[in-house]
Amino acid sequence: MKYTSTRGRCEAESAAAIARGIAADGGLYVPEEFPRLGAADLDRLAELDYRGRAKEILSRYLTDFTPEEIARCVDAAYTGTFDGDTPAPLVEVAPGMHLLELWHGPTCAFKDLALQLLPHLLTVSARKAAPDKTLVILVATSGDTGKAALAGFAGVEGTRIIVFYPRDGVSEMQKLQMTTQRGNNVAVCAVDGNFDDAQSGVKAIFADGTMRAELDAKNLAFSSANSINFGRLVPQIVYYVSAWCDLRKAGKCAADGAVNVAVPTGNFGNILAAYYAKRMGVPIRRFICASNRNSILTDFIRSGVYDRNREFYTTSSPSMDILISSNLERLLWHLSGNDCRSVAAWMESLRSTGRYEVPAELGKRLRDEFHGDWCGEEGTRATIGRLFRENGYLCDTHTAVAVDVCTRYRAESGDDTPCIVASTASPFKFAPAVLSAISPEEKLSADGFALLERLSRVSGAAVPKALAELRSLPVLHRSSVPRTGMEGFIREFLG
Ligand SMILES: *Cc1c(COP(=O)(O)O)cnc(C)c1O
Repeated sequence: MKYTSTRGRCEAESAAAIARGIAADGGLYVPEEFPRLGAADLDRLAELDYRGRAKEILSRYLTDFTPEEIARCVDAAYTGTFDGDTPAPLVEVAPGMHLLELWHGPTCAFKDLALQLLPHLLTVSARKAAPDKTLVILVATSGDTGKAALAGFAGVEGTRIIVFYPRDGVSEMQKLQMTTQRGNNVAVCAVDGNFDDAQSGVKAIFADGTMRAELDAKNLAFSSANSINFGRLVPQIVYYVSAWCDLRKAGKCAADGAVNVAVPTGNFGNILAAYYAKRMGVPIRRFICASNRNSILTDFIRSGVYDRNREFYTTSSPSMDILISSNLERLLWHLSGNDCRSVAAWMESLRSTGRYEVPAELGKRLRDEFHGDWCGEEGTRATIGRLFRENGYLCDTHTAVAVDVCTRYRAESGDDTPCIVASTASPFKFAPAVLSAISPEEKLSADGFALLERLSRVSGAAVPKALAELRSLPVLHRSSVPRTGMEGFIREFLG
């Protein structure tokens, strides 16, 4: 299978696409066609466990990996690293509403599903596509990718990893998870700005020819662990296919096998993976794209106009505080019939004016499959409280956004297709907001760890070990740079 850039004709095999992370023209790698899973394939997948399903799906995309390489990567990623029997269990919280819990991994957020696997994929890819090079993984994080990538890459031979996070844009637990990270190949740095600033900074460094030449001279090469890397996307396709198989086996899909999928969305990576699952043959009827108060995607889906010239809000669901949703570029490429010229023009317009508009018929195609809506701070609180009181289920702030949008969609549209709702983080990662939502009279202690204990007592759920142990770990990373200081930080770290 060939991969190409959304903005031009940079062709690559899968290993090269993963090793590079982003195409040289600034575009994102996309598969030139979708591998198809027929009815018989899906029946066969349903009989396998999670790892078996992952191996099958990866083998359709990573066509220059051997079956043994894929098996080794998958087994290393998903053996003993997630709590429970499967990395992605489903919980039916209300009739027809199935939460896909993606946070039972080492950092308590859905990013683990991809980032436990990506270091293994990258190591194999580098061996094939960039032998003898040390990979320098650059990460911009809205909170959860940073720790998940650090946990995946710490100590991995042949890699170094640098994580940039928005100084005031992550939760206390998210920050501590990153700043306590051990490992002599890791660096963590705060950026004075928001996630979009950090992500734009990283993308500019990728595109900087001088920097690339400097690295090349030292036998180093940049790569990405953000969802712009195709290697992040494939593992995410797996859990949608797998969830559908589980529902199908349990007799919980619609009569014709259909489901809907609702995703709390920021950078558009998670929901795009569901779209890929559909294009492979999983009968997904509608995608419900849920945003927080930063509702740029809702507006885009409704109007066809993407306009980031608006206020940026810091919310209780920080991993979705994003105004430049990178992976939307991939969806536009697919929906426009692989029209790389138009995609390049829209992205240039976004860069220079902060805005672009897609043609009416593309907007219509988008709305045929995607429903967009958003949920503000009060709705998020109310949803966490209601789900806890009425359904006995504790969810985090991000998941609550999707639950609320999905619930309203079902009521307003009358579409009662069973729905898979991506549950993207443990509620303990966002304990202050979750606790005050389920127990509004509570006077919140300023001590984050006391809050974890308190949330555990009020909810009856156990504090995840990975969060409890942060209390005893020393803070190792205290660097902070202005937006213009990211390049300098990288140079210093690399020597
Ligand atoms: C990253 C993240 C999201 C947003 O996912 P995208 O793939 O960026 O759309 C939602 N919820 C949580 C908890 C996250 O960490």
